[in-house]
Amino acid sequence: MEMREKLKQKIFHFKLKNKFMHDQNCQFCQQDIEYIDYKNFELLKGFISSQRKIYSRRRTSLCKKHQGLLTIAIKRARVMAILQFNK
Ligand SMILES: [Zn+2]
Repeated sequence: MEMREKLKQKIFHFKLKNKFMHDQNCQFCQQDIEYIDYKNFELLKGFISSQRKIYSRRRTSLCKKHQGLLTIAIKRARVMAILQFNK
């Protein structure tokens, strides 16, 4: 009985933490940005590593929607030769 209560509490805190993290961290949601411009080199530069790889969501802390938009923008920029494919 007691263990079940403990487990319940654990799950509750886990959900709360996830919700908190999800709500807070996306910088594009906070600024109400709906479209990420592929020509905005200064912005995109912050989301790629020195090896020219796109950072994962764990690193960028964006929401799923904006990470997808960012990925599209970076790939578009690469094709337009604004960013490099690799080092
Ligand atoms: Zn977002």
